[in-house]
Amino acid sequence: MTKWANCLEEVISKKVEYSFFSSQKRLLSIILIVAFIFFILCVRFVFLQVVNAEFLQIKAVEQWVRTLPLTAKRGQITDANGNILAISYTSYDIFVRAKEIENPSEVALYLSVLLGQDFDSVYQKSINKLASEVLIKLQVNEAIALKIVQKDFAGIYVAENIYRHYPYGKTLCQVMGFLTSDSVGQSGVECYYEHILCGKDGKYLTQSDVKGITINDSLNYYVQAVDGLNVSLNIDVNIQIIVEKVIEQLVIDHNPKSVSVIIMEPATSEILALAISPSYDLNEVPRDDVASLLEMTKNLTVSNVYEPGSTFKILTLAAALSEGLTSLDEHFYCPGNRIVDGEKIKCWKTTGHGDQTLVEAVQNSCNCCFMDLALRLGTEKLYKYLELFGIGEISGIDISGESAGILLDEDSVKEVDLARIGFGQSVAVNQIQLLNAFCSVINGGTLNVPSILDSYFDDDKNVIYDNLNLAKNTTISSEVSDIMKYLLEMALSKTGEMTFVDGFKIGGKTGTAQKYGENGKIVEGKYVSSFFGYLNDDGTPKYAILLCVDEPSSGIYYGSLVAKPYAKIIFEQIIEYKNIKKADESVSVENISVPIFLGLSLSQAVVELEKLKINYEVDGEGERIVSQFPMAGKVISKSATILIKTN
Ligand SMILES: [Zn+2]
Repeated sequence: MTKWANCLEEVISKKVEYSFFSSQKRLLSIILIVAFIFFILCVRFVFLQVVNAEFLQIKAVEQWVRTLPLTAKRGQITDANGNILAISYTSYDIFVRAKEIENPSEVALYLSVLLGQDFDSVYQKSINKLASEVLIKLQVNEAIALKIVQKDFAGIYVAENIYRHYPYGKTLCQVMGFLTSDSVGQSGVECYYEHILCGKDGKYLTQSDVKGITINDSLNYYVQAVDGLNVSLNIDVNIQIIVEKVIEQLVIDHNPKSVSVIIMEPATSEILALAISPSYDLNEVPRDDVASLLEMTKNLTVSNVYEPGSTFKILTLAAALSEGLTSLDEHFYCPGNRIVDGEKIKCWKTTGHGDQTLVEAVQNSCNCCFMDLALRLGTEKLYKYLELFGIGEISGIDISGESAGILLDEDSVKEVDLARIGFGQSVAVNQIQLLNAFCSVINGGTLNVPSILDSYFDDDKNVIYDNLNLAKNTTISSEVSDIMKYLLEMALSKTGEMTFVDGFKIGGKTGTAQKYGENGKIVEGKYVSSFFGYLNDDGTPKYAILLCVDEPSSGIYYGSLVAKPYAKIIFEQIIEYKNIKKADESVSVENISVPIFLGLSLSQAVVELEKLKINYEVDGEGERIVSQFPMAGKVISKSATILIKTN
């Protein structure tokens, strides 16, 4: 019995023990599960409140807030005289939301009368609860839109749309550029100055219910749109139109691959006109054919580079004069070619120009003379000047996609390369860069950053930014600049008389360059014909032109025949438009226009001065005139004294 009892007692005590431990474990499990659930909740809470808070907050606000975008007005673009080149206008589209309309027949009657629409049609739209929004009429004017807004019928909505209009259509198309369908500038000024023109959109927030219906007396939040600024360009649209009309004629006469013309103000490098053919209508941008659109919208005056040919001789000459390596009366002999590094390089006149002075060599555009000048300069000095002229680097103009051009690596330039660079071969430039370098040659030696933009201003005409022209560096002295102008004026007139446009001082130089294929070899029959020139106004170069004709296909390709005559027409029309007086009109019996004495020998200068019967003083003991005062071209009284300095 005792044994049995003991045994039972042992079993009971173990069970008790077992039962005790079992409930303890269960409790522990429950606590662990609760803790785990609590931990998960905490993690979720942190995730919602911290990690994902912003996203969720936006989602929540979106659910109870309705946002009406308020579009900023895009700034206008005007030319230098305030003519509007691009303008935005707003029109309004009218919609209804049937779910929100309380009295469809009243709404339909109101809208059909106001918008001149059929009552039944508007009524059907006003009860169409299957669609969230139905269009009633597109492009209504502001007065009608305002009436509808003021009427404040529930369920009628007015959507604002902004359109861009270019009053001159095709004119200036590559400079202006165009917008994407979302009204963002895609090319040209519209793209370059997008951040100025676009402004900042605003918004109008109202609280709405689940169906999107605005809650009456709810809190509204209004962020006013900031309109874009207006942009004024240096372009004179009247000169632009003159240029484009002349290009049209050139295209008819010579059917080239493309033509481009830039008119730049030499003193400031401001772009007064920039025209490229072929062109397109800014109001009907041909968006369907992307490849041809890209081709037509490209501003090839900066994006393409070309071998300039003879116009480049201007830079070689300016460098050689600056280094004192030649003078006006030096003689050059051209047998039709030069042998450099054992290679025969031809003058364009293969029978030779014979004996000629520097003035004649420039008039003849003799390659041999310019090979000699480049070889005298040597690579180091020629490259020093090319760098000063900005050749081989972008000009910094406010047009996207500018190419720097190609200048052989200085260390690899052989004599034969140097000779070729001297007359504009073995070098590639963009047109803006080249014209800008020429402007420094004729403006007294200042290289500027060329610019399309003049300023930008707000709607009250307050100027926010004035784009003052930026001088980069000095290229040549004002004395050398004067000699260059004399040579360029002589080059154009040949006989020394002002025959280019009768009575006007115009300087210039033609160029004809062969084109190279992708294999680097010359392509037979393909040329770029060009002309650089400038027109003086009141004794100062005022309008510089670079006209390039790419691949004329009329059988004529010389710059003197394909480019120069059209530049002449452009100058004649600018003279008329700007009412520029003839060079000799300001010279009366009592006044004279100071001739150029720089570069002449003292005896030549004295002969000239005696002929003019004017007082003069000579400073120095040398034989050659190195400076003069006043500068050539200035109109002075006959009783004044001219000072000439010798070396
Ligand atoms: Zn020659």
